[in-house]
Amino acid sequence: MSEQPETVHVTSPYLPPLEEVLPYLEQIWDSKFLTNGGQFHERFEAELRDRLGVPEISLFSNATIALVCALKELRITGEVITTPYSFVATSHSLLWNGIRPVFVDVDPDTLNLDPDKIAAAITPQTTAILAVHCYGHPCDVRGIQEVADTYNLKVIYDAAHAFGVEVDDGSVLNHGDLSVLSFHATKVFNTFEGGALVSGDPQAKRRIDWLKNFGHAGETQVVATGINGKMHEFSAALGLVQLKHLDHVLDRRKAIDTLYRQRLSGVAGIRMLEPTPDERVSNYAYFPIMLDGRYPLSRDTLNDLLHSHDIRSRRYFYPLISDFPMYRTLPSAARANLPVAADVTERVLCLPIYPDLPLETVERIADLVAEPARVQLRAA
Ligand SMILES: *Cc1c(COP(=O)(O)O)cnc(C)c1O
Repeated sequence: MSEQPETVHVTSPYLPPLEEVLPYLEQIWDSKFLTNGGQFHERFEAELRDRLGVPEISLFSNATIALVCALKELRITGEVITTPYSFVATSHSLLWNGIRPVFVDVDPDTLNLDPDKIAAAITPQTTAILAVHCYGHPCDVRGIQEVADTYNLKVIYDAAHAFGVEVDDGSVLNHGDLSVLSFHATKVFNTFEGGALVSGDPQAKRRIDWLKNFGHAGETQVVATGINGKMHEFSAALGLVQLKHLDHVLDRRKAIDTLYRQRLSGVAGIRMLEPTPDERVSNYAYFPIMLDGRYPLSRDTLNDLLHSHDIRSRRYFYPLISDFPMYRTLPSAARANLPVAADVTERVLCLPIYPDLPLETVERIADLVAEPARVQLRAA
């Protein structure tokens, strides 16, 4: 029997050795303390806060509910400036709060919200900016804060991609009013499902903890229209174990990123994202490449080619959020308003990157991507 090459997905969840998790599970089974702030929840929250270097953090069941609660905590209403170039949960959190998204174009170098284009989109109804550290690369946090200060807007960061990312003054999560992390299975750091909301002071954290627990502020007191966004003990215990493996995970991701860059730099028509100027610590969450006119294949043809070799590259982010039915009739969703995002969404392809991906496979993928450009070179 010939050996079938295994399908290589764009990402694959990191799981610690099962035997490291089992003692935690035994404790959960013994205590029967399953959720509502058990010992592992409290420990994970404290260790995470220290590891990330943030003042306060609240664990959540997932990032989407955390985003919904972040907007509630800041009492955001009316219109919010946001990016079309993200996962759809970013904008959905606005609609769940009855807020109107206003899409603003991204910067061509970072693919993050372009601060220079925000002011033109502000109206008397604008109350906040919801930005995304896309692929884990920090937004221009100072540029965004400057606009926010000028127009008295709140700033929320969807930091679902930005676990562990640092800029010149420490964690990128300390910028803006609130930041949201995702611990979904596909992310750099996972607890199967999970998320967190980073806040700046204990009062804010206390209110956020009420919001994720139905608004309960005590046994008989309900102070807000809260929701159920609590993280249970199983996820918290897994999070504690995952933290011990974080350095390994980041080392592996870095090695893959480095190898792709070595193999693909200088290939005609392929652009890779560079670290942003203030970026000190990256997490190598994704490996997007952008194809320009010099590359002989279209993005979709290259995607099909890789898939025919069982390499499941993905078109993140395509389509744009602003192209989905619940958004496309907004005036700000027009292509003419979003030329950079509209262009990139047609040219981007994310290549596989995850801790267990063998370097030989990375070389094979890079060769498959580079080969069409080499063939063209030889033919010329
Ligand atoms: C994954 C992701 C989310 C949603 O996270 P969940 O934890 O699955 O709810 C939100 N925003 C972005 C940018 C994401 O990539």
